[in-house]
Order: sequence, then structure tokens, then C-alpha cells
Amino acid sequence: MPLNYSDKLREECGVFGVYGHPEAANLTYLGLYALQHRGQEGSGIVSYDGSQFHVEKGIGLVNELFTQDRLQRLIGRAAIGHNRYSTAGGSGLKNVQPLVADYALGTLVLAHNGNLINAGLLRAELEAYGAIFQSTTDTEVIVHLIAHSTGRTFLDRVIDGLQRLRGAYSLLMLTENCLLAVRDPYGLRPLSVGRLKSSHPDGDAWVVASESCAFDLIEAEFVRDVRPGEVIVINGKGLSSYSPFPEVTHAPCVFEHVYFARPDSQIFGREVYGIRCQLGRELAKESPVEADVVVAVPDSGVPAALGYAAESKIPYETGLVRNHYVGRTFIQPQQTIRHFGVKVKLNVVREVLGGRRVIVIDDSIVRGTTSRKIIKMIRQAGATEVHMRISSPPIIAPCYYGIDTPTKEELIGAAKPVQDICDYITADSLRYLSQEGMLRAVVDAQNPSFCTACFSEHYPIPLLPEESPQLGLFE
Ligand code: AMP
Ligand code: SF4
Repeated sequence: MPLNYSDKLREECGVFGVYGHPEAANLTYLGLYALQHRGQEGSGIVSYDGSQFHVEKGIGLVNELFTQDRLQRLIGRAAIGHNRYSTAGGSGLKNVQPLVADYALGTLVLAHNGNLINAGLLRAELEAYGAIFQSTTDTEVIVHLIAHSTGRTFLDRVIDGLQRLRGAYSLLMLTENCLLAVRDPYGLRPLSVGRLKSSHPDGDAWVVASESCAFDLIEAEFVRDVRPGEVIVINGKGLSSYSPFPEVTHAPCVFEHVYFARPDSQIFGREVYGIRCQLGRELAKESPVEADVVVAVPDSGVPAALGYAAESKIPYETGLVRNHYVGRTFIQPQQTIRHFGVKVKLNVVREVLGGRRVIVIDDSIVRGTTSRKIIKMIRQAGATEVHMRISSPPIIAPCYYGIDTPTKEELIGAAKPVQDICDYITADSLRYLSQEGMLRAVVDAQNPSFCTACFSEHYPIPLLPEESPQLGLFE
């Protein structure tokens, strides 16, 4: 299937925005800090002070980048920020968001989480009409589409431009007059609105974030999710909502619940922690095994391990301890660093593991390198048996909607049957949660359907064979 439409397929990100607060940039800094797990390559904040936009961006982590001096320069009562992670090729300062562009109606600042599947086509089409691109991000395509639209108002242009996009986008836009928040019609990536109480005569401030954990840090109240396909405009008059896109079957990303979002967040209307515990319970029901202790691969496997232990009545203990000063190993782009990373990141508690039959729980297996090293460590600590249980099904296909997964060739779940993976990671037994079990844990009345494409290869956005750069853009 020709899914390689975009020239740069992988992009994990976090977005945060504030409207109507004297410390907009400081709040955005804190919001990005809470969303650091969504992207560690670079960050940016753009503020607006009523007459001018102020931009600070860089490569690195939020707390290293935004010094007191830089934050002080970001004056104004409105700001948006972005944390970026991208694979090699898409990195570099020019790709760090928010993007700032001047166009016929003024200035447009844009921060995007997600990945478009037709960005390559749209870019070729725009370039054929003379557009000049400054970055290699999909996001710049969105800026050009809005800028080239002939719509009368900003909102008309946004809607006009976004009609052309296919893929995942949770977007924040800042202009001279408003903050705009948009979620794609499938609702692939999360985005929520919150409110921050203020004694200022202008009233409360509005905040928008990829995940609700960012609201907790700044003591903002969670108001609601941006709905799939919804455009929310926040300005001096408050919040207005538009639903300009045709309805499609919603497909929020199940992997956000499995791994990506923080467990203390609420996304797609549900608490992530509770869902992860339930994934562990379903796993215990499907794949029990006699053992003495349940341990988690920290931090991502902890809630599922607690759920597994509760359901199986086998005690949960801390058998692996994580060094919190090492970042997510997977996210570092070079193989050599990743291999080294697993060792510096985790250590065993011999007292828990020695002489015992151990069930070890993780949320997912990608390449299999983490599990293999962990099982070796657990055996070296004296475990008599090691049974690996994974709280999601095998990852068999890449994500085209904004989560960093390697190519199909590198995904061990695509390359090998479960027994071969078990042999590779040297476990006594290996079981994954079934797709049905995963869906039992996540589906409810509010979210009857999910994207499960990396587990099922059923991509929710059908590819249009007639899509080609020749299609008229400005007809
Ligand atoms: P691997 O060693 O390649 O099998 O990686 C598996 C580990 O990576 C598991 O502990 C997961 O929690 C974690 N993981 C899964 N998906 C991702 C991702 N997109 N980014 C970073 N880490 C991930
Ligand atoms: Fe999420 Fe997987 Fe779908 Fe990507 S393919 S959006 S990671 S469920």
C-alpha cells in the first residue's frame, strides 16, 4: 500500500497555549515542562503583547532552553508553545515550532502535533504555484494553505486550508486577535481546554494543552476536550466553537493510552492511569501464569503491572528501579546510544528477584532490545523463571499519524511470530494482550472506536488513489 506520501513521517509533539493572562509565557513554559515526554528535541514559545510577537526557540530540553532572560523577553497576555521530537532528517532549529508567518491578514503563529499523510503532495502542489518553504516540517504546509486561501476572514481561511489536510493534527494558532485550537476530524491526537481563574478585570484566562497533566501544574481547571473536527476560537469575548468538517468515524490513538500519554493525564475523556491498570487486568485474565512476584518495567509498565497483580492476586513488588536522570532510551536516535541506554536507565532489586518466579510487565515491545536486556538482568539477579507479559498486542505496522515507530522491517512484532520473539528475548514465556482485550479496556460510550493501526494494520484514514500533486489547489 503506498503509504509513503509524506517525505517525513514521524513526529511526536506536545502543544500548549494561553490566552488572557499577564504571565502567558511563564505558564506556557510550565505547560511545556509538563509535556516534555511528548518531545525532547527542541522547544519554542511565541508570545503576543498586543502589538508585537516575541519568539524564543532552541534545541534541547524545556528547562535548559528557557532561561529567566528568555522568558522575560516573551511579554504579552497570549502565548503558544511546542515541544518537538523528530527523527533524523527532520531535525534542526529551522524545524522547531511554533512557526511564525506573515500573510495578507497579519501574522500567523502555528504549533502542530500529529502527522499529515498528504503533506508531500500538498507541498509539491504549493511549490508548483510558487510557494517557498523555509523548513521541512509538515506544519509549514498548513501555514501556506491558510495564507494562500482567498477566504474573507481568518476563520474562513483556516477552514478552507484545513479542508485539504489528511492525517493527524492537533493544532494551536495564535494571531493578533485570537487563539485557535483545532483537532482533526478523526481526533487522532489529544487536545484539551482548561481555564485559569484570574482576578484581572479581563476575567479568567484560557489554556489549551495536549494533555491535562499540564493544567495540573499551573492549577488550571480542566474544562473539556476539543472535539474531533472542532475549531475553537478564543478571544476577548470568550470561547466559540465551530464544526466545519464532514463527520467521520472517530479514531483516537489507542497507543496514547497504552504508552505515550502521561498516566496522570486525562485524554479522550478518560484517565490514562485507570485504563492502563485495566489493560493489565485484561492481560492477567487472558494470560495467567504461576509465579511468585509481578514486577513492572518502570515507568511505562507500572499501572499495567498493578492491574495484573490485582487481577492475578500475585504480589506486586519493585523489582526494577529506574534512574530518573536518564531520558527515554528509545527516543535517542542512534542504535549505539539506545543499547547503552537500557543499562544506564534500569537496575535490579536482587532481594525481590533472587530465587523467585517473576512475571515482568511492559506496555509494548518495539524492536525487542529493551525486553532482551531486562530479562538478562533479571536472570543475573537470580530469578528462577521469567515470564514476560505485554499490555498491548504486537506492534506490526508503523504509525503514520504522529507516533515515532520504526519501519516495518525493524518491528520485531512484524518480523517474527510470538514464540520466536520469546526465544529472542530469552523469556520462559511471552504473551501479549489481544486486540479484543485492549479494546475492552479502552472502548466506552464516548469513544466507541479507536485507531489501532500499528497493532492491526487497519489505517482509519483511507488513502485516495486519485490524490496527486496535479489536483488543483486554488480552483
Ligand atoms: P524496544 O526495546 O525497541 O522493544 O522498546 C520497547 C520499550 O520502548 C518499551 O519499554 C516501551 O515502553 C517503549 N516505547 C514504545 N514505544 C515507544 C515510542 N514511540 N517512543 C519511545 N519509547 C517507546
Ligand atoms: Fe496511534 Fe498506532 Fe494509530 Fe499511530 S497507528 S495513531 S500509534 S494507534
